[in-house]
Amino acid sequence: MRLELATASAGETERIAAALVTRLRPGDVVTVSGELGAGKTTFVRGACRALGVTSPVTSPTFTIGHRYVGRVPVSHLDLYRFTSVSPAEWGDLEPYFDDAVVFVEWPEAGLATLPAPRIAVTLEHARADARRILLAADEDALLEGMTPC
Ligand code: ADP
Ligand code: MG
Repeated sequence: MRLELATASAGETERIAAALVTRLRPGDVVTVSGELGAGKTTFVRGACRALGVTSPVTSPTFTIGHRYVGRVPVSHLDLYRFTSVSPAEWGDLEPYFDDAVVFVEWPEAGLATLPAPRIAVTLEHARADARRILLAADEDALLEGMTPC
């Protein structure tokens, strides 16, 4: 199932993310694609808050990832600097996938290596503060009832 939502503000993007992730469990992977400034980290922040994470949620661009404590463990990865993921690099990444809901910004380099995402999110710039959010999931139930907040 594919769904396209429109958002008019960062807060609205956070609320859409929050509505989406109540359906997720540890072990689930969500890829978050889109160009710089599209709102990937904003989306992950909204998702993390809904999962009970209270610590700051910032882009892990200068580290491989963050692991947060929420109602469930949450991992936040950024593969911006990767062109592919070697077996050695997968060794470094794998612990983030252990018993956590995982969000992956710039997932393109890892698509062949990482566990398959349950939901693929793509953010696109529209005018000013408007963004399009494209959601894709093999299981229709994951996206059912998602409407612009
Ligand atoms: P990325 O991680 O994709 O580089 P960020 O989430 O770090 O993007 O930054 C997005 C920026 O755009 C933030 O400053 C955010 O406040 C702003 N913004 C404005 N409108 C929106 C919107 N509708 N959705 C998400 N972010 C928005
Ligand atoms: Mg980011």
